[in-house]
Amino acid sequence: MAIEIEKLTISSAAAALDAGEISSVELAKAYLDRAKSADKNIRAFLTLDEAGILAQAEASDKRRTEGKPLGPFDGVPVALKDNIVETGQTCSCASKILKTVKSPYDATVTTRMKEQGLVLFGRTNLDEFAMGSSCENSGFFPTANPWDTERVPGGSSGGSAAAVSARLVPAALGSDTGGSIRQPASFCGTVGLKPTYGRVSRYGLVAFASSLDQIGPLTNSVEDAAALLDIIGGKDPKDATSLPEPCKGFTDAVKKISVPDLSGMKIGLPKEYFELEGLDSGVKGVTEAAVASMKAAGAEIVDVSLPHTKYAIAAYYIIAPAEASANLARFDGIRYGTRDPEAHDLMSTYFKTRGKYFGAEVKRRIILGTYVLSSGYYDAYYLRAQKVRTLIRNDFEQAFSKCDALLTPVAPVPAFKFGEKSDPLQMYLADVFTIAVNLAGIPGISVPADLHPETGTPVGVQFLAPSLGEEKLLTIARNFELCRARQEFVPGLG
Ligand code: GLN
Repeated sequence: MAIEIEKLTISSAAAALDAGEISSVELAKAYLDRAKSADKNIRAFLTLDEAGILAQAEASDKRRTEGKPLGPFDGVPVALKDNIVETGQTCSCASKILKTVKSPYDATVTTRMKEQGLVLFGRTNLDEFAMGSSCENSGFFPTANPWDTERVPGGSSGGSAAAVSARLVPAALGSDTGGSIRQPASFCGTVGLKPTYGRVSRYGLVAFASSLDQIGPLTNSVEDAAALLDIIGGKDPKDATSLPEPCKGFTDAVKKISVPDLSGMKIGLPKEYFELEGLDSGVKGVTEAAVASMKAAGAEIVDVSLPHTKYAIAAYYIIAPAEASANLARFDGIRYGTRDPEAHDLMSTYFKTRGKYFGAEVKRRIILGTYVLSSGYYDAYYLRAQKVRTLIRNDFEQAFSKCDALLTPVAPVPAFKFGEKSDPLQMYLADVFTIAVNLAGIPGISVPADLHPETGTPVGVQFLAPSLGEEKLLTIARNFELCRARQEFVPGLG
């Protein structure tokens, strides 16, 4: 039966399956067909195991016809970023060093989706080991923005964002260490949710910076983001940092809202974010229009301050590389993945393998991280960065004493052209609005707001809430979705 695939969300796909309008196999085939044609130019997927996908879809259809118990999204496809393990599939982290790896086990999020009968649909591209903001650091090939293939999709979860935006799959998971879900979501016009640190188990997520990493959904609606959080979140004994608080009921909370009503809600605007030198005027305009629509829906807008914002990038680019340098030590040519065939003894195995198969950005981070942790510089850099992290966390606590949530731009610029930010520092500076959120551990969501007046590519706005404030965050995001100026965010795939 004919379905309009570009209009489907995971919720409407599930409804179509329940109504018998389509089977899971038909749905999977429709997405596979679309992926086969459109992904030639976008290149969102690193691998797409057609036989494996169809087998999962067939199994779901069989459960349905046999009257077996079904998850609410049984038979609906969801893609995984290629740094979240799935048994038998690649988990390359877009790095040549892990090119040959096939995962021997499932991440907790993978297990939870499988238990609900979701169809795991392909492995998406990323910046190598999730280090980057454009997907240009992938060790294999860059992914293009479906709205303009000369522009980046953002990163590091650029493959997930591009796939969801282009409707090659109705939803995907990504990971966010300093903005890697929210920024590509903004560039591609999808919803991207970074949960509170500890909400979602990191078991089976290849670690970049363990104190900052979180898995979260990229979707085409706030309701879908809530639904996936309901499925993947909650305590996991396999991740000691996962939080005991229940992580359920977000879908029901979001579903209740059909008319925007933000009366009684205080939305804070951090002045440092709006005064930033280098904030693109088109992005600022879209953000201000979003503020106006929130106000029209009854929200009270208050000014707040996050005084230590100017130190966030410096602190992050010390802490994240420090943790990365330790986490990536395991990729030594012995335990995982590829070994340089020219290696002839232990030291040459390390040097040649790591020298040859890690990309330039990964090496830069390892060197940076090793430097700031070395005995002569630990106090001067690493320890001070940790102190700044506390100040940043306190800034948010102060701000949340004056409002329910914050509204900010996601990135200071819209999707930029390939090669435009060739200097790494330029790229780091573009993370200014997303990074502090990870340092503080609070939840954040990027929701498409409008198209940029010059580039014609989407621009999202970011909402932030206190730790464990996902219900309020999603409620506010759903209200915004209903009151924003533009409703449709579907790229014309010329
Ligand atoms: N762009 C940031 C970095 O390069 C964040 C990446 C991420 O969130 N994984 O580190």
